[in-house]
Amino acid sequence: MSNELYDVTIIGAGPVGLFAAFYSGLRSMKTKIIDAEPAVGGKVRYFFPEKIIRDIGGIPAISGANLVANLKEQAETFHPEIVCNERVVNVVKLTDGTFQLTSQNGSIHFSKTIVIATGSGTFEVNRLEALHAENFPEAIYYDVKNMEQFRDKVVAVSGGGNSAIDWAQTIEPIAREVHLIYRGEDFKAHEESVKALKKSRVQIHIHHEISELTGFNNQLSATTLYCKQTKTTKTISTDALIVNHGVKVDLGTMAEWGFELADFGIVVDDEMKTTVPGIFACGDSASYSRKIRIIAAGLHEGPIAINSAKKYLEPAAADEAMISTHHESFIN
Ligand SMILES: Cc1cc2nc3c(=O)[nH]c(=O)nc-3n(C[C@H](O)[C@H](O)[C@H](O)COP(=O)(O)OP(=O)(O)OC[C@H]3O[C@@H](n4cnc5c(N)ncnc54)[C@H](O)[C@@H]3O)c2cc1C
Repeated sequence: MSNELYDVTIIGAGPVGLFAAFYSGLRSMKTKIIDAEPAVGGKVRYFFPEKIIRDIGGIPAISGANLVANLKEQAETFHPEIVCNERVVNVVKLTDGTFQLTSQNGSIHFSKTIVIATGSGTFEVNRLEALHAENFPEAIYYDVKNMEQFRDKVVAVSGGGNSAIDWAQTIEPIAREVHLIYRGEDFKAHEESVKALKKSRVQIHIHHEISELTGFNNQLSATTLYCKQTKTTKTISTDALIVNHGVKVDLGTMAEWGFELADFGIVVDDEMKTTVPGIFACGDSASYSRKIRIIAAGLHEGPIAINSAKKYLEPAAADEAMISTHHESFIN
């Protein structure tokens, strides 16, 4: 345990926390970044490392894994302290105005300011609830880290949101068959994705949910689907099952850290200040009118939060960092 005092501690090493760590280096701030997960990358690493992301300006297409690798490399430019596997469970302001952060494992960290980039909190996927699901842990996927494992397989995808539709379509060209199973009727996904899905080879089973898995020796062979409308069942042969039943997000103890929370996050002003002086928020964790929860938006908010932290520590400091091409670290 180190008593070292940092200028800024960023809680959350998702895309936004990582870019904020780079930017705080541009501002010569001694920086620590802490994440509950075993590796950096946030939701992108956890949920969609193989998905192709196409809505970041200047990057027409990039896989989640490559984006995380790039962000990590960029974050490391100024050598921040990166701490993984630690969930921050408590933050208190000490009498000298600095902050003490405590992790679930008892580690203590000290910082003059805090930037919260915790997304929607720590995440845990909703598991499949179906008869015998516990017998086939190796055939059930809650995220997809390696698409090749579905080549020439019969794959069932369960869910009706963007992720389920994305995955059904992404693996369709390489899988032998893809079945999309959705208990509702109207998919909760982008219109264009739904249109493309309906034109694809994916076999769609609306009004159905998975009731039972069957197989032998932990090898999945079939999925039984129950139709909620007709109250009948049917069975489809299945080698692998991708489950996208949403995620439980947990803000944890954050409600006790003193700042105001809104329905979808931490209330911030246009300088990314929370209601606690010295604590700032950005990315998916920040809440304000017209907030967009995409990576590109967070990449803008991270630097604003860092600039506000810098000005909190040094009111006479410049409002923002020198643009990188003119920054002394990159000359020569
Ligand atoms: C399936 C899916 C597909 C998506 N597709 C796209 C897309 O194509 N394009 C796009 O722009 N956006 C997409 N998004 C949204 C995008 O993932 C988020 O906008 C982005 O990840 C937000 O980054 P962040 O750094 O703010 O938060 P996150 O990525 O959520 O990272 C937050 C990090 O904080 C950590 N954390 C939380 N609480 C604590 C704590 N108490 N202590 C320590 N660590 C903590 C978490 O472990 C996590 O690593 C998608 C999201 C999902 C779920």
